[in-house]
Amino acid sequence: MKISVPNLGNTSIAVKALFEALKVDYVLPEASSKRTLELGVKYSPEEICLPFKIMIGNYIDAMERGADTFVITGSCGPCRYGEYCELQINILKKLKPDINLIVIDSPGDIGKDEFMKRIRRVSSESPLGTRDKIKALFTALNTIKSMDEIEKTLRMKAGSEIEEGQCKRLLYQCRKKVMDAQGADEMTAILKEYKKEAAKVPVDKNKKPARVAIIGEIYTIIEPFSNLFIEDKLMDYGVSTTRTLYPSWWIKNTVMTALKLQSIDIRLASREYLPYYIGGHGRECIGEAVLAQRHGCDGAIQIFPFGCMPEIVSRSILPSISKDKDFPIMTLVVDELTGEGGYITRIEAFVDLLERRRKRCII
Ligand code: SF4
Repeated sequence: MKISVPNLGNTSIAVKALFEALKVDYVLPEASSKRTLELGVKYSPEEICLPFKIMIGNYIDAMERGADTFVITGSCGPCRYGEYCELQINILKKLKPDINLIVIDSPGDIGKDEFMKRIRRVSSESPLGTRDKIKALFTALNTIKSMDEIEKTLRMKAGSEIEEGQCKRLLYQCRKKVMDAQGADEMTAILKEYKKEAAKVPVDKNKKPARVAIIGEIYTIIEPFSNLFIEDKLMDYGVSTTRTLYPSWWIKNTVMTALKLQSIDIRLASREYLPYYIGGHGRECIGEAVLAQRHGCDGAIQIFPFGCMPEIVSRSILPSISKDKDFPIMTLVVDELTGEGGYITRIEAFVDLLERRRKRCII
């Protein structure tokens, strides 16, 4: 069994840490690219959302590298994600009949026994005992938490860094070193070192950069290729960005959902505009927009794939938040036909607007 997972931002780092600690044979797809998307588009239904197509491209790429088993998270929720695993396994089986897909669904949806059965399947080839397997899982969780913290710090400091480009350079260096590391211990040591480096990045306190919250559909936000690397572009423009939906947030949120204690702040903040879960992270998007304004951001950018049902609902609510709170919110919709030129022009115009509003406030 050669195991793999589709790309999803920093989660590749946690997956590498987990499988190396478990000592199981694994392969990761190459970083998502135009080729990945072309492969995905070729084998996916035309009307399905962008994450599905990129994931199919990742599966095919990993299959070319020898993968025969994939692990994905499932959802019985009301959006298309609930159909992903069935559709994907049908497509993959046509390409390679002996392929396996292990869907990690929430225990509440599939039952505790089935959940444990699927987890055991993932780790079935590991030579480790139960205790060491649990230790490996915690190592992976710590890895993703550290990587997300480093990224958060650097993206926030990017707007006021003294040495231009330092934050982005450190972030890329950190990711590369971690992905090149041999074993979970080396990965942990590198992350510790970069956490200190990120904290030490000097900033100019007199700079008052625009602060932008990135909100919207979780996959498009976390997987940089799918949003045309928007956060990196904003770093280049000297803008500080913040977002809630990091992989470590998703893990914590999933665990807390079982106790009905998930993201209480977001739920409370969204209550006035959207008091229900509508699938995907539509409710979170609304709550995050309200919180971003409360926490002093200058604006928010909502990103979602063309045809994403929960985010279309959020999009229809965001103008009310924007008007009520005098808070600029821009929406970007992405799909395989998104042209980078028009996309960049819209981001630049929005940043320009935020900077002028900020100057007006300072004067
Ligand atoms: S949240 Fe939107 S983009 Fe994501 S799977 Fe559901 S419909 Fe598709």
